[in-house]
Amino acid sequence: MRQETLARACMLDHPATAYIVPVRGPDGPAEYEVTWDELARDAAWTQDRLRGLGLAEGHRALVSFSGYEGAWFQPVIEALRNMGVVYGTSESMGWDHVRTRVFHRELDLHAVLGISLETLEALSGQAMIGDLFRDTPVLLGRPDAARRLRDAGVPAGIMTPLGPALAVECRERDGAHVNRAEWTVRERDGGLGVAAASAERAKGTGEIVLDTAGSVRTERCACGSDDPRVIFG
Ligand SMILES: [Zn+2]
Repeated sequence: MRQETLARACMLDHPATAYIVPVRGPDGPAEYEVTWDELARDAAWTQDRLRGLGLAEGHRALVSFSGYEGAWFQPVIEALRNMGVVYGTSESMGWDHVRTRVFHRELDLHAVLGISLETLEALSGQAMIGDLFRDTPVLLGRPDAARRLRDAGVPAGIMTPLGPALAVECRERDGAHVNRAEWTVRERDGGLGVAAASAERAKGTGEIVLDTAGSVRTERCACGSDDPRVIFG
């Protein structure tokens, strides 16, 4: 019965749209669509970034994100799947910090991706976060979490949504890369402006200006990538 149902489901037309993301437009609330094709391209780019960080088949990873962040983190999960990395997920709101702690303790994690400051603050009530994460080879968090970890002596990098894009820092720790095939990122008065590189992506939004403090580097990174890098300030 189940096989029959699945076989019939496979014959149905699948909508191209995977997510609809609300955004603050110049004229008030707006939204844009994210398609499955776009997610697949994002996953391929993310996979290159994760390989560059040393992740490989058989490693174990924890991905920490909120339910509404699927458009940014589904490609991360897809990349891990394609690489054969075993992954778990936790909610990045502080109340789910116990899941992060349990995965960390039980799974011998090679990577923690996307960890939030809220999670770190909840964890720090139980353990010194420096001691907890010092031996995790790949640790990428939101900008404020990465700062807190570095202050605790852990050489953390950044993985974070940046407007419609995802920013991922490489081993050089010289700014978080943004996929230049999909996005442009520029310094603007009081923040950063992110726009789609093609007219097909994030249609109708134009440049999204974020009140995120930071600067942008466009010269080639020592890791070999020509993607622009954001130094969060
Ligand atoms: Zn780099």
